[in-house]
Amino acid sequence: MVGKLVEKVVIIDGYVDTPAGLGVPPYLDVFPRYVAGAVWSVNPSAQVLYFTVDYVRAHFSEVMKICNESDLVVFIAGVIVPGKYLGGEPIKEEELTLWPQLMRKPIKVLGGPVARFGLGGVGGEIATPPEYFSKYFDLVVPGDIEVVVHDLVREGLRVDYVDPHRLRESYREIREFAIKGARIVTQHPNYGKNLICEIETYRGCPRYITGGCSFCIEPLWGCVKFRDVEDVVEEIRALYEWGVRCFRIGRQPDLYAYWAKDTGVEEFPKPRPEVIERLFRGIRNVAPELETLHIDNVNPGTVYHHPREAREITKIIIKYHTPGDVAAFGIESADPRVVRLNNLKVMPDEALEAIRIICEVGSVRGWNGLPELLPGVNFVCGLIGETKETYYLNYIFLKKVLELGYLIRRVNIRQVLVLPCTRMASVGTSIIRRHWNYFQSFKRKVRKEIDLPMLRKVVPKGTVLKRAFTEAHYGGGTYARQVGTYPLLIWCPMRLELGKYMDFLVVDHGFRSVVAVPYPLDVNSAPLKVLKLIPGMTEDKVRKIMRMRPFKSVSELSEVVGELAKYFTVKN
Ligand code: SF4
Repeated sequence: MVGKLVEKVVIIDGYVDTPAGLGVPPYLDVFPRYVAGAVWSVNPSAQVLYFTVDYVRAHFSEVMKICNESDLVVFIAGVIVPGKYLGGEPIKEEELTLWPQLMRKPIKVLGGPVARFGLGGVGGEIATPPEYFSKYFDLVVPGDIEVVVHDLVREGLRVDYVDPHRLRESYREIREFAIKGARIVTQHPNYGKNLICEIETYRGCPRYITGGCSFCIEPLWGCVKFRDVEDVVEEIRALYEWGVRCFRIGRQPDLYAYWAKDTGVEEFPKPRPEVIERLFRGIRNVAPELETLHIDNVNPGTVYHHPREAREITKIIIKYHTPGDVAAFGIESADPRVVRLNNLKVMPDEALEAIRIICEVGSVRGWNGLPELLPGVNFVCGLIGETKETYYLNYIFLKKVLELGYLIRRVNIRQVLVLPCTRMASVGTSIIRRHWNYFQSFKRKVRKEIDLPMLRKVVPKGTVLKRAFTEAHYGGGTYARQVGTYPLLIWCPMRLELGKYMDFLVVDHGFRSVVAVPYPLDVNSAPLKVLKLIPGMTEDKVRKIMRMRPFKSVSELSEVVGELAKYFTVKN
């Protein structure tokens, strides 16, 4: 190596949220892990420090001092569509421009989706393009951040010697980074609590041969590059050995098409259940005591065109995963005209069939209270050819799902994010702006008329949700979530100790969340208002409980409340 020996590196995780991956706590996305591994691949004794943006805010002077004593600071960011998160607040534009200015000594690098696409704004627009940040950083990396950081460290931080656009040639190139970088997890604030690692299996969409969907950048990668099963498993082994217990196989456009036959030839290549089996069996072998194993994106077109293989894969996933899993279906639109004009993957009747297939196998309830594996449905609004009628057709589609008795875990409705180099760029945000009111009322209607009745079916009152993690206090109560993909938000009307795994009894439903009480509930200390919430509880029974407290045993309680005693415990 020529140039400077890199001994101290700081990674500032500003969080990532894109359709391809999530990195807002408790999630840790691949970028910080790969970057740490890239540094350690060149200098195994380098000190690599990881800070989340929330930590930086809370310990600002301390972190700035550390950065100013470092050789290199790598910022990772890329929340393309801003939202509200329970687990953290993504980096803001003013932080991304001010903080590097306060760091005089280190080389400053910006990577992640923000460096490729820019920083997201509201209403489907990119608010700030990547070039805007180049005056604050020595290097803005639209390429693969881990390979560019590797080059930079190897070149002794000589910025002119590296190509910021460089992409990894194959997954072989990052094999070592992924394994070596696993140890960075020990520095994550959610480590040892509810940390969940996003895992990558491939990049590129098999539908690139037809151009792909009008709004999507995935086909721009060209040929699909799959990651070897062994590489994925070895990374999970390393993460598990460093203490990670929750995983989401989420970084791919369609898990069911992983190593599919005739990829690059067929628009919907034939899935290979045996490869999925090898992957999931391998994961279980190296991580036998894992807490969560979930998936994310699945192309409904793959399920529709290959029902036999899709059923088989669903069964395999259920055999190895943990319940409460979601196959997120990018249906995008139930308007045939919009489907055609945007080259989307499925017509509405095909999407319905794909939902049916997954539900048929996946809707059985698992040990943690949730169905094993349900479809999630994504709609994208503002696409080419969209009219007022599109919103009506989308609604009718969801209504049909409900009436047919299929279960879906959640409906995600968003406005299209218009990215450069996609076909949508020719239309821009004009349709979004024109249809703003339709979009808002569609969302409201779905929340009330679809989400609520659907949630009542997915988790009826009386369901016990096991091992939810208490995350925050709010409105006199506590928010908790099970760790996993699209976790259901639980609100408990009691202030509970944070940072603990607990079981909860569902007592009521919001549009996208449930009200629940600790299970079993201590009858001797539960507040009156909480006792009243227990399903089947009457005013009369509550009065008797209050009069007769403290109870000495559950059997004593059962003489008063009958079989409702099953929801209680007795603490003295
Ligand atoms: S099917 Fe469409 S949305 Fe999904 S990855 Fe391919 S191009 Fe993108």
